Amino acid sequence: MKRLDLKVGYACNNMCRHCAQGSKRSTLAGPSSEELRHQMEEACKRGIKSVVFTGGEPTVRPDLLELVRQAKDMGYREIQIQTNGRRFASPAFTRAAINSGMTEFSPALNGHIPALHDYLAQVPGAWRQTVRGIMNVRECSGIKIISNTVITKPNYRFADRIARLLVSLGVDQFQLAFVHPCGSAWTNFDAIVPFISLATPHIHKGLQVGLDAGLHVMAEAMPYCHMQGYEDQVSELYIPPSDVYEAGTKIKDWEKWRIQEGKWKGDSCKTCRYYQICEGPWREYVERRGPSEFIPVPVQ
Ligand code: SF4
Repeated sequence: MKRLDLKVGYACNNMCRHCAQGSKRSTLAGPSSEELRHQMEEACKRGIKSVVFTGGEPTVRPDLLELVRQAKDMGYREIQIQTNGRRFASPAFTRAAINSGMTEFSPALNGHIPALHDYLAQVPGAWRQTVRGIMNVRECSGIKIISNTVITKPNYRFADRIARLLVSLGVDQFQLAFVHPCGSAWTNFDAIVPFISLATPHIHKGLQVGLDAGLHVMAEAMPYCHMQGYEDQVSELYIPPSDVYEAGTKIKDWEKWRIQEGKWKGDSCKTCRYYQICEGPWREYVERRGPSEFIPVPVQ
């Protein structure tokens, strides 16, 4: 099912060291309520029935739940909020979001202990609020919880422990996303971006924790040469075709943009068994680290 990704603004109550939006939070204003309503109506007319509210941090918008209600009234069947989850530490806010029409909750949890998550978010107490938020949503039946963990240099060794925490919190699905080295992650590259070949075995361990618990788990921006034995867990297999609205422009086909402009494949990749289906790593990663970690898998 095609999906509408609405970036509802760049403001955020965290200050993540790996944030892909970087300085946009202080240089770009978010769209108005009217613009967002218009984008939802326009997509709805084209038959799109799935919408994701993303940012920045959507919950810092005072009109977020009104926008969610409007989406429900327009007939959107899947309404996801991608969030750092902190506002959901309030049971009243959680109930209001669900009553407004949220059907999917997508929190970001980047550490198995407060010190790790809070170091990355640069907000003391963020981990406790995010975990409480997940617990509050879990107590409400019928809401699907799809979490995301950005894999960075400070947390990659703990991917299995983060996965165990997510399983214990009762998420329905989780994704481990290799950090996109843009925005703040580009500025903080040496401190934040791990070597992909060092992160790979830990990401596999984390995925295995989820698989053993019977969950649908995925790893994003991990090319197949680093996903041997976990090919079915490559996220890009499952990302639905999406229309993305960002900073007043519509990147109409996110998948095409991601493959043509966002990702990298080199000449050597042409001999790889996975060449046709692999998107490759983020382009910025190869710009900084070179292509030597991406070794073609021989055709059988
Ligand atoms: S060698 Fe290239 S095509 Fe093959 S899996 Fe790695 S990045 Fe993808």
